[in-house]
Amino acid sequence: MDTFDVIIIGAGAAGLMCAGTAALMGKSVLVLDHAEKAGKKILISGGGRCNFTNRFAGPADFVSVNPHFCKSALARFSAADFIDMVERAGIAYHERQHGQLFCDESAKDILAMLLAPCREGGAQFSLNTEVTDVRQQDDRFVARTTKGEFRGHALVIATGGLSIPKMGATAFGLKIAESFGLNVIAPVAGLVPFTFTGKEKERLQQLAGISLDVSVSCNHRVFSEAMLFTHRGLSGPAMLQISSFWRPGDTLSIDLLPGIDIHAFIEQKRGERPHAQLATVLSELLPKRLVQLLMEDGPGETQLSQLSRQQVTGLAELLHAWQLKPNGTEGYRTAEVTVGGVDTDELSSKTMQSKRVPGLYFIGEVVDVTGHLGGFNFQWAWSSGYAAAMAIAEA
Ligand code: FAD
Repeated sequence: MDTFDVIIIGAGAAGLMCAGTAALMGKSVLVLDHAEKAGKKILISGGGRCNFTNRFAGPADFVSVNPHFCKSALARFSAADFIDMVERAGIAYHERQHGQLFCDESAKDILAMLLAPCREGGAQFSLNTEVTDVRQQDDRFVARTTKGEFRGHALVIATGGLSIPKMGATAFGLKIAESFGLNVIAPVAGLVPFTFTGKEKERLQQLAGISLDVSVSCNHRVFSEAMLFTHRGLSGPAMLQISSFWRPGDTLSIDLLPGIDIHAFIEQKRGERPHAQLATVLSELLPKRLVQLLMEDGPGETQLSQLSRQQVTGLAELLHAWQLKPNGTEGYRTAEVTVGGVDTDELSSKTMQSKRVPGLYFIGEVVDVTGHLGGFNFQWAWSSGYAAAMAIAEA
């Protein structure tokens, strides 16, 4: 039976970062994956251009029961460090809004960059390989697979989250954690569109295709980005971001006119066009179909000169704090990430090693650290993968 310094289960973003770093440091590395190809999520990410990091990535951009956990790994391998790797590999990239960095050409460039050190350091890959069982024997980990048994002095679990099962996502990492007695924070779909049922769904469907900049808040978090009405409900960056904080039963509060004082606007218009109908002037600020829906039972046809103070106050409340209660989300089928995972209390924040089981590491999305939208999830994969590799290399 072959024995490696480290067996890494999962040839995704975190697993490849860990494999390349450990291999270059002279460790014998075996990477196992049930997929036929390494880095499949990298290839489809960012619309094929991979939003590989965020120039401003910092601990505040991550969701975790312990918000401090990610600090050490992010400091030891930062966004600047990954950008440096990208530049040294000669990959052309560009910056979009909010510090998001994308490849100019293709996500394939990032995958090739990650595979190069694996090759150079002699890391071995066994793809199309199901891991059926993992156990500890003496001071080794033994992975039983459909291609035989492999031993490792260290075992790294890099099997990612539950999102997009069609692409091979499984709960394997969480099951392994539990089988070794580690606590798991219940996983939920994150960065995912909202769905509605019944009348509300029908109402919102009339707006499908409309996109506008909003501020959405829920559970004391606020995101100011674009919102998109879809046939199923609400999507767009603002909704994806807040979905990581939303829990069933919660109501979203949406400011449809962030930065606009609706009282002042109505006063100004009342002076200019006192006989104009409210709906007409609101259509200067918002899409007509949205105004129609908002004014369904409201004073849309009332002339501005006739609007009472109470009506203007009600209007301000409606436009600056529109209350919508989703019935759920589209779930893991379309979610970009999984919120929750292996409890960070179980791991060293410096090395990602289990405190209970020496030699066992968890990296990437399987850990209860989830980035906001915008390149942060890959940054966590790079940072946590690097932290584990360095610890293994130095052991
Ligand atoms: P993954 O990259 O998911 O890798 C896990 C690996 O483990 C996979 O290769 C899988 O086949 C393997 N595996 C799973 N179960 C088993 C098992 N039982 N046995 C063997 N192998 C197994 N983040 C960004 O920062 N920027 C983006 O632009 C971006 N775009 C995204 C677009 C989409 C459509 C999706 C779904 C996600 C996107 N993300 C993005 C999130 C990002 O892809 C993930 O957070 C990141 O890939 C997590 O890295 P990971 O290595 O932990 O897991």
